[in-house]
Amino acid sequence: RTILLILGFLSTLAVIALIAVAVTQNQPLPKNIKYGIVLDAGSSHTNLYVYEWPAEKENDTGVVRQVEVCKVEGPGISGYSHATEKAGPSLAQCLQQAEDVIPSAQHKETPVYLGATAGMRLLRLQNNSAAENVLSSVGNTLRSAPFNFQGARIITGQEEGAYGWITINYLLGNFKQSGWKKLLHSLKSLSETSGALDLGGASTQITFVSKDLTSESPENQLYFRLYGKDYQVYTHSFLCYGKDQALQQKLARDLQTVENSSLPDPCFHKGYERTINITDFFKNPCTSDKKKQLPFSQLYIKGEGDYQKCRESIQKLFNKSNCPYSSCSFNGIYLPPLQGDFGAFSAFYFVMNFLNLTSEPNPLALNKVIRTIESFCARPWQEVKTAYHHIKEKYLSEYCFSGAYILSLLENGYGFTEDNWQMIHFLGKIGSSDAGWTLGYMLNLTNMIPAEEPAGPPLSHG
Ligand code: AMP
Repeated sequence: RTILLILGFLSTLAVIALIAVAVTQNQPLPKNIKYGIVLDAGSSHTNLYVYEWPAEKENDTGVVRQVEVCKVEGPGISGYSHATEKAGPSLAQCLQQAEDVIPSAQHKETPVYLGATAGMRLLRLQNNSAAENVLSSVGNTLRSAPFNFQGARIITGQEEGAYGWITINYLLGNFKQSGWKKLLHSLKSLSETSGALDLGGASTQITFVSKDLTSESPENQLYFRLYGKDYQVYTHSFLCYGKDQALQQKLARDLQTVENSSLPDPCFHKGYERTINITDFFKNPCTSDKKKQLPFSQLYIKGEGDYQKCRESIQKLFNKSNCPYSSCSFNGIYLPPLQGDFGAFSAFYFVMNFLNLTSEPNPLALNKVIRTIESFCARPWQEVKTAYHHIKEKYLSEYCFSGAYILSLLENGYGFTEDNWQMIHFLGKIGSSDAGWTLGYMLNLTNMIPAEEPAGPPLSHG
């Protein structure tokens, strides 16, 4: 008993000594940091993000930051449709990385969310039970990790658009504006919030505040009250218009008129060849309406490297012929007049960054952008391969198509012109955080964005 008493006394002394050292050296006591994990299960791959924020500032805007991103090896989870039990285990390595980053004492309280996007929306359309099995496999793996599992689900295109918009405006500090920033905005006639343009492999989203939003198309309308302000937001997600599925759509069209198994393609470099297996080609919901019996099972694509011809063939993916609303983007989908600045991220950024076309703070003129993509497409494949030998061939071979597709989507699809092109800012990261829907998703699910402006501390001068 005496020994216990002495030990207790000694440990109290030790704590007092530690505090005394911290105070005398004027060092802050350890901060109370919280963590959250979101997995973005995209069509081509899954990324795991770890966020952190100071616990006492939870409701302030702009305090959450990304501290880790881990790219899962292998395909996106929808790629496991033929071996669904392998989808979950594929995440193990990144979950381990999260365990290493987050202090173990906090594992149990750290929420983990998985959101799957258009790749899984397509799999659900094609094979519902395979989609459910994939989700249950990833759910099992996440449940067995030491974190606080909050669910694995397919998010809607509307959510994907909305959370992408929340993410970039949160990171840009647009929700809570100090006096000087408001003044700067009005002087420079900058928009208060930034629109969001997101391009994935299977879908693409456009989201922006619109004053002209009418009740013509309620499914495109969102209302938010954030930090004491109301926002009327337009959003739409185009399934099958991500860049990989847009290429599939284009090929499905080309296959309608093909004479033999060799297909000249202006969107690939001269000298580039690719073989496509067409047995499963029309099982994809993005191509199934073009199903055609063909006398061959393999298609040989041969690049022509012709930007103009490529643009013409891509343009046909945007049906502008009928619009049941006051104005439309394409395929009869409502689009109010474009307003304000736009942040363009994900594949918009990957492609434009590769082509050196993201130059900020002075965005390039549209005609310069077109000329650059045109001359890139005209370069022979051998030359391109040698110049960029460090880049994955799958990405490299498609930058010509992707560049042309991005221009066509923005110009023909959404109606951007030379005059408002410079309102688009291609961005990968804002501070340390990637632009994308994941941060907005977590902020919302952890109730970190209050509807009303939090009251400042009493006697605050801030
Ligand atoms: P998702 O997997 O649906 O989020 O879509 C991401 C898209 O970006 C896919 O089309 C990927 O092929 C593409 N992508 C990812 N990284 C790169 C990169 N470094 N260069 C070009 N495309 C990329």
